[in-house]
Amino acid sequence: MYDKYSLKATEFIDDTEIKDTIAWAEENKDNLTLINKIIDKTDELKGLTHREAALLLMCEDEQALQRIFEQASKIKQEFYGNRIVMFAPLYLSNYCVNGCTYCPYHAKNKHIPRKQLSQEEIRREVIALQDMGHKRLALETGEDPVNCPIEYVLESIKTIYSIKHKNGAIRRVNVNIAATTVENYRKLKEAGIGTYILFQETYNKEQYELLHPTGPKHNYNYHTEAMDRAMEGGIDDVGCGVLFGLNLYKYDFVGLLMHAEHLEAVHGVGPHTISVPRLRDADDIDASEFKNGISDELFQKIVAILRIAVPYTGLIISTRESKKTREMVLKYGVSQISGGSRTSVGGYAETEEEEEDSSQFEISDNRTLGQVVNWLLKLGYLPSFCTACYREGRTGDRFMSLVKAGQIKNCCLPNALMTLKEFAEDYADEETKQLALDMIAREAETIPNEKVREIVYKHLHDMDGGMRDFRF
Ligand code: SAM
Repeated sequence: MYDKYSLKATEFIDDTEIKDTIAWAEENKDNLTLINKIIDKTDELKGLTHREAALLLMCEDEQALQRIFEQASKIKQEFYGNRIVMFAPLYLSNYCVNGCTYCPYHAKNKHIPRKQLSQEEIRREVIALQDMGHKRLALETGEDPVNCPIEYVLESIKTIYSIKHKNGAIRRVNVNIAATTVENYRKLKEAGIGTYILFQETYNKEQYELLHPTGPKHNYNYHTEAMDRAMEGGIDDVGCGVLFGLNLYKYDFVGLLMHAEHLEAVHGVGPHTISVPRLRDADDIDASEFKNGISDELFQKIVAILRIAVPYTGLIISTRESKKTREMVLKYGVSQISGGSRTSVGGYAETEEEEEDSSQFEISDNRTLGQVVNWLLKLGYLPSFCTACYREGRTGDRFMSLVKAGQIKNCCLPNALMTLKEFAEDYADEETKQLALDMIAREAETIPNEKVREIVYKHLHDMDGGMRDFRF
């Protein structure tokens, strides 16, 4: 029985409700009056229900689709302006006891080199990341309570935050590790993590169990209820996502939005971010053997509808996607991207000759962070290395209410400008630096609040004298 307030996975992600939603949306997919009414409603910037969003997903009418894309661009501009937040993944360990059929870290893979970074190796990785200009990381590990216990993750977070190399600093560590206990989430919160990220992979219980035949991840309920435990443990910024390609996309799209509705209903705050990864080839994984892959056109449509359905939630895309695809979805909703990523354990500090391939999946966008920043600036986007929100206590519903009130322009824009200036001064080549400084000059003028604007000008000026880490 569907109940978004329930704490039981099979009730807030109710299979019958998902199937009924898809059937209803398919029946109504030519009802342009209803479709246009739903699109009109997105002007209120209050988002859509999973049923409304599902109907838009089924819609094939050219004019209506055009309107959906226009609304997505408009809403993105309204909430996020042209800012794009930058991050990099950091793989700590690929030991794994699970049997996920799509991931090369699965326990039966005996030939992939298993590695776990020592604290000294983490130092080297973090220095390499700082030297690229990164300030925000997403930690990644396989699941292995013996080889990679929570204590190791906590110690690693401490190490990462402690490293200050030249002007570098990692100021926000997000964590993407397997579903765990309330107690462990509490420890992660105490260690000062930003967002806790966990992909659902698929919301379809039957498929989920087939895709995760062995190991603790096999337990659908435990995995699906992880965000509730994280929130109970005090983490109020959580990041959801499905791995597109594993299951029928319509089902997972509806499940994802129902999950967001559940978190909002029970905890008063929806997901801080949603990631939209697509399955990739990897060591012993052939993505073409999975028959549910989605085309670029469909992917673009999904991003646009997510943008208007959950306008206050950041959308993340990784280097699994090519430069071309990333450019396409930036327009319609993506607000965070990774750059210069390595998906192998130790991949940042290793030279190519040293590299033994322990990577999780193949990367499509192989450019350096500097090249990605240069490209974003040329497209008219404002790359942001901001990590201020959670350090200023703006997490969970405090962050959401600020976003919903449209007040983020007086916070996010100044922070984006100041962190881009840091990047320009400390890490950019001459061309990128000039592009960045021009962008900063143009955008600073648009800060709505006069007082804030003046402070930003002062801080930008003080940075020339070597001052760093100003924030609102
Ligand atoms: N081990 C953690 C867990 O159990 O959730 C998460 C860390 S894993 C390093 C991060 C994500 O990579 C997974 O949640 C999965 O969605 C994704 N992934 C795994 N295999 C992949 C593949 N072949 N292509 C693309 N993404 C993949």
